[in-house]
Amino acid sequence: MFEKILIANRGEIALRVIRACREMGIRSVAVHSTADSDAMHVRMADEAICIGPPSSTDSYLSVPAIIAACEVTGAQAIHPGYGFLSENANFVQIVEDHDLTFIGPSARHIRMMGDKITAKDTMKALGVPCVPGSEAGIADVEAALELGEEIGYPVIVKATAGGGGRGMKVAHSATEMQSAFRTARAEAKAAFGNDEVYIEKYLTTPRHIEIQVFGDGKGKAVHLAERDCSLQRRHQKVLEEAPGPSISQSERDRIGKICADAVAELGYSGAGTIEFLYENGEFYFIEMNTRLQVEHPVTEAIFGVDLVREQIRVAEGLPMSFGQDDLEINGHAIEVRINAEKLPNFSPCPGRITHYHAPGGLGVRMDSALYDGYTIPPYYDSLIGKLIVHGRDRPEAIARLHRALGELIVDGVDTTIPLFHALLTEPDILAGTYNIHWLEHWLESNL
Ligand code: ADP
Repeated sequence: MFEKILIANRGEIALRVIRACREMGIRSVAVHSTADSDAMHVRMADEAICIGPPSSTDSYLSVPAIIAACEVTGAQAIHPGYGFLSENANFVQIVEDHDLTFIGPSARHIRMMGDKITAKDTMKALGVPCVPGSEAGIADVEAALELGEEIGYPVIVKATAGGGGRGMKVAHSATEMQSAFRTARAEAKAAFGNDEVYIEKYLTTPRHIEIQVFGDGKGKAVHLAERDCSLQRRHQKVLEEAPGPSISQSERDRIGKICADAVAELGYSGAGTIEFLYENGEFYFIEMNTRLQVEHPVTEAIFGVDLVREQIRVAEGLPMSFGQDDLEINGHAIEVRINAEKLPNFSPCPGRITHYHAPGGLGVRMDSALYDGYTIPPYYDSLIGKLIVHGRDRPEAIARLHRALGELIVDGVDTTIPLFHALLTEPDILAGTYNIHWLEHWLESNL
């Protein structure tokens, strides 16, 4: 059993992991950059160690610094959170080479899913339905044009190494393909140092539906239903809910079983998310994320499980504490992402928090590392909090979200809170009838 876990992350997710550790009687070690000396995760952990200057490259992404921090503190395992090193297979290999445990899947599975073409080929072979498209990287514009004709426009050119919504370009015709192909490649090269791209059919009105899976690494796996993350801006999620308002119990059972079986067959260990686009009653796999997601709390709310605790247990070699038959959906949950951003352009808005008040009451969870007087540094992601509400059904969850947003106070910086106040008056949001393009359209005419 682990006595001490190092958390290679910051912000709300570092707090999330520290809380699970504390409840399990495990000591926690926070790492931080010089810009984060007074951050909440540093205060809340049992121990803290500075690993470098503000730039992520030299701190939260510095493998030698993190390994050294483990050695200095005697931590036996590393929880990567999300982002930073969480899906870096080389890091996992180095962690294991130092006789430390990475709390997450194997380097092999991370590598397999990090290459989106390999991921799709693997999933297809396991019987998971995929978006029609190329089965290998596209070498040149000629090959791209040929595929465009074959698949039929519109198509989307995507980076094989992609993530965070970058390196994606839509082409509606052969004429558009030329520039889409070149731009996607250039963006991919700049963002991921790898300019390989592939092509998929571009679905015009899908919802983003993702299945939470969990494996014990020994061939047993379960699914924890879906999250609907269709409310997106620039391919980035803004609000997530579980269960998906458009998914029936029989569809859920069907796609859930396909995913759980695939993950079991792979011998996958820990938490994972299989992402689909869902259109006209069909699921199309787009990618698998081999980590805990930002939006995991909505799943925790409807199943009453602690996914981080489960990740730690499985990393210790213990069996999962639930089987498929123990997992029953209870009510409805919604999460909104509170970002320090100025509307209407969503430009980052770091600065000093003059007053912070978190909402409370029945069915309300606020995951945030903010406190009165805290200064949000300009170097990192703009996510400053997640407000998660749980109700007996969707209308109750919405009423609760409305109420909780009214209690939330974040003074001193601009945030996305007003966006959610506005969205909660929209009939489509209240009815749950929105697809992945809804928010972009709404923003054009409302902000
Ligand atoms: P990333 O890894 O960068 O997040 P994803 O493959 O998960 O990229 O796609 C992110 C988002 O981009 C999806 O949720 C969806 O909104 C949009 N998208 C991706 N592929 C397609 C597609 N084939 N058709 C339509 N939209 C797509």
